[in-house]
Amino acid sequence: MSYFSNLLSALAGQTDSDAPESVHVSPASASSTHYSKVKLHPAVDNGVGKATPGFNGGTLKCLCATDKVEVEVSAQTAHNHICGCTQCWKPKGALFSQVAVVSRDKVKVTANESKLSIVDPTQSIQRHACKGCGTHMYGRIEDKTHPFYGLDFIHTELSGQKGWDPVNFAAFVSSLIESGTNPADMASIRGRIRELGLEPYDCLSPPLMDAIATHVAKSKKANVN
Ligand SMILES: [Zn+2]
Ligand SMILES: [Zn+2]
Repeated sequence: MSYFSNLLSALAGQTDSDAPESVHVSPASASSTHYSKVKLHPAVDNGVGKATPGFNGGTLKCLCATDKVEVEVSAQTAHNHICGCTQCWKPKGALFSQVAVVSRDKVKVTANESKLSIVDPTQSIQRHACKGCGTHMYGRIEDKTHPFYGLDFIHTELSGQKGWDPVNFAAFVSSLIESGTNPADMASIRGRIRELGLEPYDCLSPPLMDAIATHVAKSKKANVN
């Protein structure tokens, strides 16, 4: 079984033992708050929580006052992370976005679907955003050859339910500079990420990068045969 199928099956029946160790970090203690003034995202600024065993999803709601777009997610998410890229939706004032993956068949728009439109159809991740408030409700990959085909990208903070997979790592940290972060601030931003028990990466996490490379290696092999 390939790493990517492992990744997918881990998503299908995710148990606590599948979770990387970094998930089980306790909120930052008094001795590790050197960089606590650095705010990354509300989901981690007061420490990283824990997933609730057996948690099975919830409803994401957009930020419109009325006629909210609602998306039902009927599974726990995986690979939740804070992302510094320029494409992911970020809540107002946050440096990072928080984004996780879930199998696309577990994601269903249940209200006001007509308010959704694709932010940039040329991107491999088609981010479906609310035209009213701009919130990205889910990102979907339609290219069947893409390494992450079958996974949707969602922001679990849009759900009122507690118990989602907590943030496991920080991705595309250096990309913050592209959105205007002063390069001189990067050391304290990475310091804060580590202080929270997370690892800062300038791409995705090693398991996800391995999944992409495995997919590439496999498709090369398939082309040779
Ligand atoms: Zn909205
Ligand atoms: Zn991103």
